[in-house]
Amino acid sequence: MSLRVRFAPSPTGYLHVGGGRTALFNWLYARKHGGTFILRIEDTDKERSNDTNTKSILEGLEWLGLSWDEGPYFQSEGIERHKAVAHELLKKGWAYRSFATSAELEAQRKQAEADKRPWLRDDASRALSVAESDRRAAAGEPFAIRFKVPLDGGGTRFEDAVYGVQERKHADIEDFALLRPDGTPLYNHVVVCDDVEMRITFVIRGQDHLSNTHKQLLIYRAIGSEPPRFAHLPLINAPDRTKLSKRKHGEVVSVTTYRDRGFLPEAFRNFLALLGWSAGGDKEIYTTEELTAAFTLEGISRSNAIINFSESDPRMWTDKKALHLNQEHLNRMAVEDLAPRVEPVLRGAGLWDDAYAAGGARHDWFLRALALLRTRFVTLSDFAGPGRAYFADDFETDAAAREKNLGKEPRLKEWLPALAARFEAEPEFTHAALEPLLRAYSDELGVKAGVLINAARTAVSGQSVGPSLFELLELVGRQRVCARMRSAAATL
Ligand code: GLU
Repeated sequence: MSLRVRFAPSPTGYLHVGGGRTALFNWLYARKHGGTFILRIEDTDKERSNDTNTKSILEGLEWLGLSWDEGPYFQSEGIERHKAVAHELLKKGWAYRSFATSAELEAQRKQAEADKRPWLRDDASRALSVAESDRRAAAGEPFAIRFKVPLDGGGTRFEDAVYGVQERKHADIEDFALLRPDGTPLYNHVVVCDDVEMRITFVIRGQDHLSNTHKQLLIYRAIGSEPPRFAHLPLINAPDRTKLSKRKHGEVVSVTTYRDRGFLPEAFRNFLALLGWSAGGDKEIYTTEELTAAFTLEGISRSNAIINFSESDPRMWTDKKALHLNQEHLNRMAVEDLAPRVEPVLRGAGLWDDAYAAGGARHDWFLRALALLRTRFVTLSDFAGPGRAYFADDFETDAAAREKNLGKEPRLKEWLPALAARFEAEPEFTHAALEPLLRAYSDELGVKAGVLINAARTAVSGQSVGPSLFELLELVGRQRVCARMRSAAATL
């Protein structure tokens, strides 16, 4: 039997990083084993599901590059089938009509709480004869359909591929509802109906569903269908070990934030993969091919993962490891492959020049710029942010950089134009020629070369950090370099 897995998000918001990770693990597992990866949108909660949410989930998956082989199927389209299966289970005696009104259920639950025992079933309804139950239904009395959890003293067990043997006694499982009194089906029932319908062979999903699995297995048994295997994934928590939520933790929780902030999808896949999975060694940087080859369910951890971020430090808006991996991927890819990734970012900032994409000198310059800049950049957005001065003449000088590198030495007012004059006189405007020139001048002045280096960097790039100054100067070019050094001096 061929492997069939699914990602089944509820479109109640955006694609959560935990959802992205679940999708990734399903995708990797399917790719590795030549299986089929199915996307099913669990949109049965009509109040919370909508098209915008569905779209944002699809967008997140598309950006992550987790292409599905089948779907998206919409769970709501199967509602008649879900109802029919519930009625079938009722007919066969695996379920019963629960006539208790919500007020009665509330009272039963309160009583159970007072007795310090869990509420488990609607005993009165469960005890009704079939004839009596049919009669009350025919008379138009509303009812839910509840699963009749066996009172046989037994239990249900399964072996989770991550968490090992999981057993629950039937005496501890409540008679969960399959259909509400308004006829709408509930999660545990629907998920089984659909997993059966889609011939899912392996369910890989969040650990929050571990304890639902026993109920689902009871339904499989009642339907007479072979259950899939299960692998539950550890949760992803915030630094304070609470559940990651957008309401509480903001944008860091949503996959598309990483797209919007200039992450490479391959780097973010790499990061997601390491949230709760490891191949055992020290290796951290994986291409997607390497991930697919290395991925095993045995490598999934049972302890919850943590995304470390700091709400007060913008440089740590997300986990340092995520940023580090992005920088690594940015620097490891062929610069020709990086170019089309940077293009939309520059376009968005009005910094794009079509000549960068055509063959020729501008194109070569552009590739050189990327190769040099990326050594200091973390995200694609940096090319338009701190990288702006390389692609435009109207850039702002970082205030702290100005204060530190231009604001402390008043004599820079003369030194910078004098250095510009020497740069102009230099026949070869190359890093190899410019470095000794600048150092000779600083010796003449009797100041540390760093004073001129830092000042020139800030004057030319607006920043206090960046790639090697001399390469930067060569890249920006004689004319612009000299003009910028002079205009920076004029403001001192
Ligand atoms: N819609 C469920 C969720 O988003 C999926 C559960 C499952 O995979 O069975 O949590």
